[in-house]
Formats: sequence, structure tokens, C-alpha cells
Amino acid sequence: MTAEAAADPPLLEQDLCTGCAACCDGTMFTYVPVTREEQAALSDLLTLETRADDAIFHQPCPHSVGQRCQIYALRPQTCRSFRCKTLYAMHKGEIDSAEAFRRVREMLASREQLKTMMEIGESIAEARDRRQKVAQASARTPEEMAFLLKLTAFDLLLDRYFRDKGQQMFSRSPGKAAAD
Ligand code: SF4
Ligand code: SF4
Repeated sequence: MTAEAAADPPLLEQDLCTGCAACCDGTMFTYVPVTREEQAALSDLLTLETRADDAIFHQPCPHSVGQRCQIYALRPQTCRSFRCKTLYAMHKGEIDSAEAFRRVREMLASREQLKTMMEIGESIAEARDRRQKVAQASARTPEEMAFLLKLTAFDLLLDRYFRDKGQQMFSRSPGKAAAD
């Protein structure tokens, strides 16, 4: 985490994020890494899965409620230091706030369209698994083809504006501004 990212973000950045939460609710990522040092403090708050050098918890994060982090003061370092491409670009003054909010609105609208093609109760992570099966099947219904294309377009939108290409997890290094 950088010293710059340690302080609470500016209000406009907080407004952008509390209208989004896509990096917490499973839209963008499947898991979040936490450091070894944080594990004891977080073990009562999150279900951690230990790995060789750190631990992870899976998304959607149970503490993302109403597009807000319910454990904001206690959130892991990875969450504190994360800025998606759009937030980073706004923070650096490379895009204005109107463009940042437009991108979030576009992404949320696209996700709503995608959800109409998902199965009842299916998460986006599960939909990505299903896409794999649909893509590998020898034949596809028109509905399956539309679902496959929509989810792929949605992931491309996420890659363009919000995360590194195909990124599965929160990264501890801040995102880079996306070229528009
Ligand atoms: S995806 Fe970006 S804009 Fe949305 S909540 Fe995360 S950091 Fe904020
Ligand atoms: S702990 Fe808070 S910031 Fe981190 S993923 Fe969960 S809701 Fe998001």
C-alpha cells in the first residue's frame, strides 16, 4: 500500500465507489488476497483460505452491503490500496469526474442486461464457468450464443475501464489509467 492510498480517498472518489462496488460484489473479481500479518485480525470477519505466502477470501465479499463496505475501518490492505483504472485515472486528473461516472453507469447498465440472460440465483463467477461450458459445447442454442457474446462483451468492458485484462483478483498495485 502506498502512503498516498492509506488516507481515506477524496469525497468524489468515495461517491464514485459507493455508486458502484463492482470490485467488491463479485462483478470484477473472484477473490481478494490478504497478507499473513493481517490474517489473525481478519479471521473473525472473513472466511480465509490459507495459501503458501498469504490467504484469500472469495467474492462476493459478505461485507459489501448496499454498495458500501461494512468493515471500512478494518478492511484489508489490499482493499485500501486498490483503485480500478477509472478511479485511478480520475484521481490523476486524466479523466474528469463526469467521464468516470459515465463509465460506471455504462458498466452497471451492461451488467443489468447481462443478468437478464443469467440463470436464477447464478452469480457472475458461476456465469463465467457456464460460459466456458457453452463455448466448448458442440452445439449452442441462440439464447446460449447471446449469453456467451454478452458476457464476453461485458468482460471486455471491465478490462477496458476497470481492471487489468482478465484479472481475477484485487491487485495490491494501483490500476493504470485506461486510454479512451
Ligand atoms: S470498480 Fe472502481 S469505481 Fe467501482 S467501486 Fe471499485 S474502485 Fe470504485
Ligand atoms: S472488505 Fe470491504 S473493501 Fe474489501 S472487498 Fe469487502 S466490501 Fe470491498
